[in-house]
Amino acid sequence: MMSIVEFFKNLPRKQCASCGNAIDEKADCYGNLCDECDHPAR
Ligand SMILES: [Zn+2]
Repeated sequence: MMSIVEFFKNLPRKQCASCGNAIDEKADCYGNLCDECDHPAR
């Protein structure tokens, strides 16, 4: 039986919808873009 901690550890990492880079844990309000693609100055 899998513990809740193991369950979250096995979740796939989020990927940037634009470049495919892995997205680090952060607020969901950013959607599916990595820091590079979500840069406000671009
Ligand atoms: Zn990206």
